[in-house]
Amino acid sequence: PEVKTSNFLRHIVEADLAAGTHASRHWCGKPGSGPQQQAGAPDPAKIRTRFPPEPNGYLHFGHAKSILLNFGLARDYGGACHLRFDDTNPEKEELEYVEAIIDAVHWLGCDWGDNLYHASDYFDFMYQAAEYLIQAGHAYVDSQSASDMRTNRGTLTAAGKDSPYRNRSAAESLDLFHRMKAGEFPDGSHVLRARIDMASPNINLRDPAIYRIRHATHHRTGDRFCVYPMYTFAHPIEDALENITHSICTLEFEDQRPFYDWLLERLAEGSLLARPLPRQYEFSRLNLTYVVLSKRKLIQLVEEKHVAGWDDPRMPTLVGARRRGFTPEGFQMFAERIGVTKSDSMIDMSVLEECQREHLNDIAPRRIAVLDPLKLILTNVAPDHEELCEAPNHPQKSEWGKRSVPFSRELWIEREDFTETPPKGYFRLFPGNRVRLRYGFVIECTGCEKDAAGNVTAVLAELLPDSKSGTPGADTYKVKGNIHWLSARHAYPSEVRLYDRLFAVPAPGARREGDPEDLERDFLDDLNPDSMQTIAVQLEPALKDALPEDRFQFERHGYFVADRVASRHGAPVFNRAVTLKDSWSK
Ligand code: ATP
Ligand code: MG
Ligand code: MG
Repeated sequence: PEVKTSNFLRHIVEADLAAGTHASRHWCGKPGSGPQQQAGAPDPAKIRTRFPPEPNGYLHFGHAKSILLNFGLARDYGGACHLRFDDTNPEKEELEYVEAIIDAVHWLGCDWGDNLYHASDYFDFMYQAAEYLIQAGHAYVDSQSASDMRTNRGTLTAAGKDSPYRNRSAAESLDLFHRMKAGEFPDGSHVLRARIDMASPNINLRDPAIYRIRHATHHRTGDRFCVYPMYTFAHPIEDALENITHSICTLEFEDQRPFYDWLLERLAEGSLLARPLPRQYEFSRLNLTYVVLSKRKLIQLVEEKHVAGWDDPRMPTLVGARRRGFTPEGFQMFAERIGVTKSDSMIDMSVLEECQREHLNDIAPRRIAVLDPLKLILTNVAPDHEELCEAPNHPQKSEWGKRSVPFSRELWIEREDFTETPPKGYFRLFPGNRVRLRYGFVIECTGCEKDAAGNVTAVLAELLPDSKSGTPGADTYKVKGNIHWLSARHAYPSEVRLYDRLFAVPAPGARREGDPEDLERDFLDDLNPDSMQTIAVQLEPALKDALPEDRFQFERHGYFVADRVASRHGAPVFNRAVTLKDSWSK
């Protein structure tokens, strides 16, 4: 059942649909390099949203919020959502990231159909739009140094100062702009700026830069350009050319909205763009405890090898989550649970983990794994005795059936399920106590064997033959302990990776109480030293056939996935996605 939390953007979309705000739009499919909105048939999509990643890193959990929001609105209101690569920054962008982003958005279950776009497809149009702005008196080439430009921009309390080049004629600016494009000038020697208002209280309107010189090779346009549009100039144009109706971004861009509207209005006045124009809306970004969600920091974790790569199961990236065993549905549940608001807040990691746990509980067949194996010998069972016990594949889903689990004289049990001296309230194995071997027999502990150092090497017990689960009279035995086990002869040894949170504190790198005023803390100091542990375990024979990405509940332990990278045919490697219970909240 779909649960929809209140979402202020839904109200906006519903109001727009009711008012027919976007009803007059025309659409001709892929926009090319010109103002193609004018042509074409009425737009069949009622609304258009977009997810516009910059291909300069892998997608993280924050991006998932934006993806599910944008694709979710399109799905729910008969619209379309575009996947658009905002590739206006040639130095930092790579094809590897483009491919990873495509995979991750697909994995989340989102489909853009034919609507895959690149900002770089519009470079010609953007260049023409810049020429138009110059001709219309709305832009000029500034030749101040970067530091003069910064100084003259002013501050929150002091108005900016006009550049000495602000009154350059349109003809002179146009000539310089053409020569910028022709490659006559080095990086940083000139920039094209919008001519708006150097005294505006909004610093973003103090003649923002819109084009700059960058002698850099672009992963798609190669060396065709050495001038590139600024993000704030490119983004509104991309939205307009694609007929986006609701351009949804994070709150940091609220102060950019006046420029977004200014630019689109100027270009519509000049008939370079058709109305209705897209509108920008802001929501609060996802902030999550126990992780960092900044690409810069994620890149640092990878490059300095604090993790094994972008897809390390501890990384808050979508590829990492996938290897960890998290599910797209778990992310969807999470997105709905946290909702979409305009106020910044910190979400606790346990909320995401709980959503993953809930979905995994629903989809994961149960299996048995002994993670810290200790031998249990049933002294009254014959050495060659074998029989089968029946274990349900899911306790609430009888339709999933049962499987046979072999039983014999020597079993593996968890080391912590035995003690010689039980503390109060301990109901598992200790000499003289009875427990049930889950799906099997009741046994009574008679003692243990130890090595010279006094370590327990085997537990001894006797089986009560008429106590087998599912047989008549089995429930006359009332025991409080119920432990899992594997037949030693049938189980197989394997390695399992226990993953935990990557950072040990809720806000990595943040000041702590009592820190000296001037202390700069490094987020790397807060890495959790126990975030990964590889252990030697014993597994139920049926697990040998697990395919990559098969997910299971290992009873009493948690949810595990067969690693999609490290697993080999007949030799799956299991990762712990999440424990059965939250062990972090106090
Ligand atoms: P970072 O700050 O980590 O580098 P970014 O915002 O620069 O991320 P983009 O590739 O520009 O990364 O992001 C694509 C989209 O994802 C943007 O629309 C952005 O608003 C959204 N997004 C990024 N981070 C978050 C977040 N933490 N919560 C919600 N949305 C986010
Ligand atoms: Mg960015
Ligand atoms: Mg961004």
